[in-house]
Amino acid sequence: MSRSAVWHPFTQHATEPVPPTIVRTEGAYVETREGKRILDAISSWWVITHGHRHPKIVEAIRHAIETLDQVIFAGLNHEPAEQLASALVDMAPPGLDWVFYSDSGSTSVEVALKMALGFHRNSGAARARIVVIEHSYHGDTIGTMSVGARGVFNAAYEPLLFQVDTIPFPAAGQEQQTLDAFERLSRDGEVAALIVEPLVLGAGGMLMYPAWVLAELKRIAEASGTLLIADEVMTGWGRTGTMFACEQASVSPDILCTSKGLTGGTIPLAATIATDAIFHAHFSEDRKKTFFHSSSYTANPIACAAALANVEIWRDEPVAERIAVLSARQAAGLQRFRVNPYFTDCRTTGTIAALDLRTGSAGYLAEIGPKLRAFFLERGLLVRPLGNVLYLLPPYCITSDELGGLYDAIEEAGERFGSRP
Ligand SMILES: *Cc1c(COP(=O)(O)O)cnc(C)c1O
Repeated sequence: MSRSAVWHPFTQHATEPVPPTIVRTEGAYVETREGKRILDAISSWWVITHGHRHPKIVEAIRHAIETLDQVIFAGLNHEPAEQLASALVDMAPPGLDWVFYSDSGSTSVEVALKMALGFHRNSGAARARIVVIEHSYHGDTIGTMSVGARGVFNAAYEPLLFQVDTIPFPAAGQEQQTLDAFERLSRDGEVAALIVEPLVLGAGGMLMYPAWVLAELKRIAEASGTLLIADEVMTGWGRTGTMFACEQASVSPDILCTSKGLTGGTIPLAATIATDAIFHAHFSEDRKKTFFHSSSYTANPIACAAALANVEIWRDEPVAERIAVLSARQAAGLQRFRVNPYFTDCRTTGTIAALDLRTGSAGYLAEIGPKLRAFFLERGLLVRPLGNVLYLLPPYCITSDELGGLYDAIEEAGERFGSRP
């Protein structure tokens, strides 16, 4: 075979092994060309919710292409987009009434940032600063890197990133410092928005914080006229135990971003859902107040049909029960690691479980990352640690036995690669 022309994402081609070629996916598994079945314990980068190729979603995609492929969404409309928007408004926290479509998590966040600045500008306020939480991740475009943690990932692009104000991560026992820092910043009246990953900071290391902190952040934001943007790209669609993580804090953000699980993880689609106030700040006889944003595939009808099938699955199948069972299993499954000397900081929120392996070096570039990946892959398990942070973020169809196998492998990895305190 001639050499591959593919440049893979987040991949150091000089040191990493040639990746297996996947020819088929089903349920909780991906299957290689050689016929090896690999358990997808990270939902293929957090997108697959029910399982790979849920029959109802596959059928919806097949059906959709019979009538509609792609149509421009400025000046034209279509039923799948209308129906999905109405379903999303029903499912989202109260007060979120307007759905703007795009095609990835990053673009949904870019849209949210532009909406926030447009809101203030069109309302006659000069607010343009964004407040972010330490260790956050919101995507890999220039704008979303700007509001995310600075580090080895974006050092080369630093000159292009805009300035933001960072408040500390609300670590256990230090939550008040986060709230105080936000209160100080929001007092000067220049902050346009606070952007948060509700309850779980994903790429930053599966860092978790309690719902009451989110509720307090919302309270402070509201009191100072600062918008709250909830980036639910990873946390949405049941991942944290509820449809959206904000529900656990009884918080309605001003803008909510959703993508990954929106189509059950089958095809790209994103939505930025905003309040009536934000929509109306852009609603004017003055055409300069238009929300100037689009991407080519905005509201692609096939993607909308897949998302509608996903919404139906949530309505017709016991998804909430599945999630509750999985969440309980994850919480119970991590118990054994709390007394294991090779691990620390065992934590779960809903279906997500994470724990830190004690090693000589920490951080994303820790030597241990690729070794762990290879170790799990040899055992037919797709696990992709964030540095020394091991986490399981499986599709909801994973069985108790499959989870058990994963915990056993993690235990073995601890003995093989971990160090004692
Ligand atoms: C994955 C992710 C994004 C970016 O989504 P893409 O679809 O990869 O652009 C944004 N925010 C959060 C919280 C994410 O986990």
